[in-house]
Amino acid sequence: MSEPLRYHSTRSAGTVPISQAIAAGLAPDGGLYVPESLPRIDLAAFDPHGTLADTAATLLMPFFAGDALADELPAICAEAFTFDAPLRTLPAHPNTQMLELFHGPTSAFKDFGARFLAACLRRLPRSDTRPLTILVATSGDTGAAVAAAFHRQPGIRVVILYPDGLVSPRQAHQLGCFGDNVSALRVAGRFDDCQRMVKAALNDAELQAAVPMSSANSISLGRLLPQMSYYAHAALGWWREHGAPLSFIIPTGNLGNAMACLWAREMGLPIGEVRLACNANTTLPDYFAGKPYQSREAIATIANAMDVGAPSNFERLRWTYPDETQLRHLLQARSVDDAAIRQTVARHAREHGEAFCPHTATAMHLLDRLRTDGDAEPWAVVATAHPAKFESVVEPLLGHPLDIPPALAAMLARSASAEPMTADNTALREWLLAHDEAKFPVGATSVAMP
Ligand SMILES: *Cc1c(COP(=O)(O)O)cnc(C)c1O
Repeated sequence: MSEPLRYHSTRSAGTVPISQAIAAGLAPDGGLYVPESLPRIDLAAFDPHGTLADTAATLLMPFFAGDALADELPAICAEAFTFDAPLRTLPAHPNTQMLELFHGPTSAFKDFGARFLAACLRRLPRSDTRPLTILVATSGDTGAAVAAAFHRQPGIRVVILYPDGLVSPRQAHQLGCFGDNVSALRVAGRFDDCQRMVKAALNDAELQAAVPMSSANSISLGRLLPQMSYYAHAALGWWREHGAPLSFIIPTGNLGNAMACLWAREMGLPIGEVRLACNANTTLPDYFAGKPYQSREAIATIANAMDVGAPSNFERLRWTYPDETQLRHLLQARSVDDAAIRQTVARHAREHGEAFCPHTATAMHLLDRLRTDGDAEPWAVVATAHPAKFESVVEPLLGHPLDIPPALAAMLARSASAEPMTADNTALREWLLAHDEAKFPVGATSVAMP
């Protein structure tokens, strides 16, 4: 076997094995872990009749070969990918597919990464006998996926930070409904504040010594890598049937899902073009239009899981494509504002009886524009969440209630609570120190939510 692949931070050269990169989440210097080089894969390696879990195990093996987790990889994939990511033809639209990523326990694509990460961490030995705190900043969907993946797992507690009032009522309910080893903190700020607070805590050596912490954000390789699997699986199926690569339009915020697609393409999977659909947060569209990269404050939109003004994975994107001119040729990003999202949801419901979540609608809107401009190529629109998770936006546009997936219904039937917090690094630090192992679980100061 060849040398095991090693991983370094986007900001420095020292390397670590993949289990260490996954256990750490964020690199100690604040950068994001990347492999020394992206492996290439022979398409003949994939079992043509394999499940999504089989495709994942084959695809990810080059990343894990030689590592402590390598032997466990097929079991990890089987444990994580217990639901499908079907590529469905949209009957009303010629040459249009929808890659449905919302069939997991929390009805958004974040389940794939969260469950894979949980399956890895469960298997990694820890020298520390104290519980591990998984810190997660969420714009709405990550938190629930991570909570579901680690709920009641011994030795782990999950602390979720979300922007108060900026997630849908059902998302808030999902985030607060777990209890046990999961705490939800509703932060008086935006997603970027939550993300900054988590990064500051993880990089605080003194705090780490008192409260062992890891992250579960899309910055973690343990979430990014498995997300390549559904692109590989869908593209391989398409390629076998049609002999052509499949192109994707991906709703994008923090660039985690899209980065996974681009890495899969770099590995040699039959993926054609990749287009990024953003909401009214224009950091990426402006960059790809030729302006210098400029992160900014996020603005709140109805596609709230994409309310990101400083996409973390941009650093990985720049590492993957160091030549800026090449990168700008390779990708396009377009902004879709709330009015256009609403129009798209309403029109597709009216004309075709379809229902999309607001994030998925940004991608659908870009496709509609391509079709209007005469593009007849096959495209797959990536459906990142089930519309019923965003009923407060979608149902008024549809004019009727949506069916609720059973897993979501079960969570909504439980009670939910979250604690308020100011958008301040010190507030999180103090909370973590006050709610250490001995005092955990908490709940005394929780505020009940409807
Ligand atoms: C997280 C999320 C996105 C954005 O994904 P990124 O990986 O942050 O780009 C889009 N849609 C939904 C429903 C999400 O939950």
